Amino acid sequence: MPAEHAPPDHGPSTAAVHAGESRQRAHDSITTPIVLAATYPFDDTAALIDFQAGRVTREEYGRYGNPTIRAAEAKLAALESPHGQDAALLCPSGMNAITTTILALVPSGGHLILTDDGYRRTRQFVRTILARLGVEHTVVPTGDYTALDAAVRPGQTRLILSESPTNPYLHVLDLPQVAEIGRRHQVMTLIDATFATPYNQRPMEYGIDLVTHSCTKYLGGHNDLLAGVVIGKPEIIGTLREAQGILGGICDPHSAYLLMRGLKTFALRMERQNASGMAIAQFLESHPRVARVHYPGLPSHPDHAIATAQMRGFGGVVSFEVDGDLDATSRVIDRMRIPYIAPSLGGVESLVEQPSLMSYHELSSAERLAVGMRDNLVRYSCGIEDTVDLIADLTQALD
Ligand SMILES: *Cc1c(COP(=O)(O)O)cnc(C)c1O
Repeated sequence: MPAEHAPPDHGPSTAAVHAGESRQRAHDSITTPIVLAATYPFDDTAALIDFQAGRVTREEYGRYGNPTIRAAEAKLAALESPHGQDAALLCPSGMNAITTTILALVPSGGHLILTDDGYRRTRQFVRTILARLGVEHTVVPTGDYTALDAAVRPGQTRLILSESPTNPYLHVLDLPQVAEIGRRHQVMTLIDATFATPYNQRPMEYGIDLVTHSCTKYLGGHNDLLAGVVIGKPEIIGTLREAQGILGGICDPHSAYLLMRGLKTFALRMERQNASGMAIAQFLESHPRVARVHYPGLPSHPDHAIATAQMRGFGGVVSFEVDGDLDATSRVIDRMRIPYIAPSLGGVESLVEQPSLMSYHELSSAERLAVGMRDNLVRYSCGIEDTVDLIADLTQALD
């Protein structure tokens, strides 16, 4: 493998630009090419035998690897890994990263633990498809470490799966505590850190085994691709890679290229999104038409102390409750001029949604309330527009 630029101790911007990029350039090009190949021919039978014996490392078939995808994986691993020794597996979506990981690591008859304030599709996967395969699960309240500890079934529990920060209330887990519980029971820990990104928080620094991201959000950053990633020790990622080769969920090399391109400005975008998130949270908290703001950077957030200890910044997502009902809340959203009304977050364009009408639209108000989704809740995801413009827009929408 050709030498790569950017040793692991470089800062996030240097790593985002240089890590994973080969110094041996195809056609002298500064960018890593998009390699479109379903298969990779061998010169002769001797070359095939050398490959099968492990004497040479090279590509073989598109489902088992691709140079563009490997470059994106190396960049993501460099950004997330505290010591630069970890590996990454790129997947076609964030959900695919989660499902591939669980399917590879949890056998039939096994048990996994997840926290309640998690991504809805992850919970659905565990409740429906995984349950059909004979995997049991326990849901524990986010932040209740006694319940988490007590939920472990010795010999049966294989995985503790959680998120930090969570969606949409932005709870931040005490990662050292989660890692300690996992280690003590010899159960693997997996954190979906999509809302934090490796710029703001690196769970493996605290002893977490595996980290996943939906690269569709901040990492790709331009609302133009779907991808996901799992990062962890090379042995575990090797197991997941084998499962991916069987399950067949492969990222497209075009998306891998777009992801690498987006990642080069990742740290710069995060700086702006962190700054806007904080400024907007403070502005909303002081606004008379806002009943409550959920943002871990605010001292009023229940996890503020943990977030301050673990995170460099608090991200671009701000959740808040309008002082009014479902319709009054929709009116505020409809008056906003800059953000698009859309699911997703983390891209250059600001997005806004009312979770009760977006991700939870098929439930009644009472059912939504039972899962903690209030009608007056708004999730605002800052893009990279000027902070003053976003605040001016929110001011006129609320007034
Ligand atoms: C978006 C998201 C996912 C799913 O990612 P996709 O790329 O949309 O499949 C998983 N977890 C979290 C926290 C997310 O925000």
